[in-house]
Amino acid sequence: MRQKGISLNIRPLKPEDDDFEDEHPYSSIETPLRADAFELDDDVKIERIEKHFTEIMNILGLDLNDDSLKGTPRRVAKMYVKEVFSGLNPKNRPNARLFENKYNYDQMLVEKDITFYSHCEHHFVPIYGKAHVAYFSNGKVIGLSKINRIVQYFAKRPQVQERLTVQIGKEIERVLHTENVGVVIDANHMCVASRGVGDTNSKTGTAYFSGKFKDENIKREFLNYINSK
Ligand SMILES: [Zn+2]
Repeated sequence: MRQKGISLNIRPLKPEDDDFEDEHPYSSIETPLRADAFELDDDVKIERIEKHFTEIMNILGLDLNDDSLKGTPRRVAKMYVKEVFSGLNPKNRPNARLFENKYNYDQMLVEKDITFYSHCEHHFVPIYGKAHVAYFSNGKVIGLSKINRIVQYFAKRPQVQERLTVQIGKEIERVLHTENVGVVIDANHMCVASRGVGDTNSKTGTAYFSGKFKDENIKREFLNYINSK
């Protein structure tokens, strides 16, 4: 039987354009970070980004004496470090407390429609969408809000959708000591919608399935639940 909905959207990210600028290659599951990534503290990072963003605006010819513009470099710098890229820093990784699975619930647990906002690492413009996470408990469970926090942590980085999907899946495995995890992400890429090919309707689907989720029946149960209203 053919699946309807999200499962049909799952396709590899493939550039439809010969233009290299529109290609979205990605190199590894780990976010590529330098070894000295956190030697500067947040305040120093904000100061430096502010300075450089001022320079970008100057080069673009904007008048930074204008009341509306003069606060922008500082605002952007704070937003980068404290908000939209705060998931780069391991100190912000959510620590998930485990609980005993008292009810011996041994079926699939699904947390669907987790809204996230991320940024494409190739253009630094938003990627936003829904993440759906499922797992089978290995005797332990976490609070449902923690699944949401894990999604937000990895979303708040310059990202590639495939990497975001795998990073969430691996983290759920690690935190819950389970090898049975499914993650599906359905997202919009502003770099595709607002520039480049200018396609405002296309969505990109990615998935991560481990253990039991590689079984077609289990996978279908998960995808059916995601697609149900
Ligand atoms: Zn992009």
